[in-house]
Amino acid sequence: MNILVINAGSSSLKYQLYNMNDESVLAKGRVERIGMESSILTHEVDDRPEVREVSEILEHTTAVRKVLDMLTNKRFGVLGSIEDIQAVGHRIVHGGESFKQSVLINDEVKLEIKKLFDLAPLHNPAHMMGILAVEANLPNVPQAVVFDTAFHQTMPKSSYLYAIPMVLYNKHKIRRYGFHGTSHDYVSQQAALFLGKPIEELKIVSCHIGNGASCTAIMHGKSYDTSMGMTPLEGLMMGTRSGDLDPAIVPYTIGKEDLTLNEVNSMLNKHSGLMAISGISSDMREIVQAMEDGNESARLAFEMYAYRIRKYIGAYAAAMNGIDVILFTAGVGENSAPLREKVCEGLTFLGIELDTERNKVRSGETRRIAKDGSKVEVLVVPTNEELLIARDTYRLLTTSSESN
Ligand code: AMP
Repeated sequence: MNILVINAGSSSLKYQLYNMNDESVLAKGRVERIGMESSILTHEVDDRPEVREVSEILEHTTAVRKVLDMLTNKRFGVLGSIEDIQAVGHRIVHGGESFKQSVLINDEVKLEIKKLFDLAPLHNPAHMMGILAVEANLPNVPQAVVFDTAFHQTMPKSSYLYAIPMVLYNKHKIRRYGFHGTSHDYVSQQAALFLGKPIEELKIVSCHIGNGASCTAIMHGKSYDTSMGMTPLEGLMMGTRSGDLDPAIVPYTIGKEDLTLNEVNSMLNKHSGLMAISGISSDMREIVQAMEDGNESARLAFEMYAYRIRKYIGAYAAAMNGIDVILFTAGVGENSAPLREKVCEGLTFLGIELDTERNKVRSGETRRIAKDGSKVEVLVVPTNEELLIARDTYRLLTTSSESN
């Protein structure tokens, strides 16, 4: 069975085509600048040169048609015809409280996703455009939706409620949802497989450290707490996001700096984090380089960033009454040895002992970076959200056809 995985943004659409017989990626690519001048379609197939096509793509239906044309193109494609695509899986950022797991799309599901537009105004409307675009191009192909929030729906109330009037939760569903759920789910399963232990026996702190960053306490395979909140702004310090801060700073800044709410929102999301403290960059590679060149602001940004992660690890060890595994994933987590070393520094009281040499070894595989004898396992686990979306779509389709 071939499954097309789609991640639709407002002006972009990423895709990966999987052959589920062996979970191999047949092709992948992205359409950028949808609705702008000169849209670009980039298409990659293993062992072949990358293809770039510039054309006018004004909306998502045309973007999907162009992707399908490319996938079936005699020269660059990998499929005989579009009938060779048996299902499509979509990434959806916000599933609110309605979606506790991935589901196949029907009218009711679409309506429910629309109701959640308010909670993720930048993401969910774009995902819906992707769903409708696939529907227009492949009307008879089943589609599934996989939510970034769903994995965290197992959090207890004591983790997900804010200590504000309950009426705000009851009326507006203001609560913590958490994000990166697809990634935390995938990497924690991979970690259990790697260690050869049932996930139900493990207490894991999963650190997804990329442009966006979050830590999750995964107790016995289920999310127990996570650092992101109602939106992906809460929690760790990130590339350009502030993470946790005293909410009183918002009205105070508005008063002192004569800013609008929108301007403060933009400051906290786009002009804070590593970028704000270093004054150089939101990219960890540039921060580490500047630090090595003696830049003190870069050093401070690096130390603050690592310190926040360390604090969350400590908090989650307390929340779960212990910890068996810490894992690092995503762009920074998988690639930055200095950051992993700094995070683990001073955590020996928890039984976390990093092997600094193993930590420096680069590889695209899951690997152990703890010292032999470390009470807590420390792993680097490459994330693969697309594969989890393809697997969920496959599972939904095969179990629903079995029960029909
Ligand atoms: P992601 O959001 O998971 O795609 O992560 C993207 C981020 O990973 C980039 O903004 C970089 O800061 C970071 N990154 C990628 N490669 C490296 C590397 N070799 N060392 C440190 N950070 C990296």
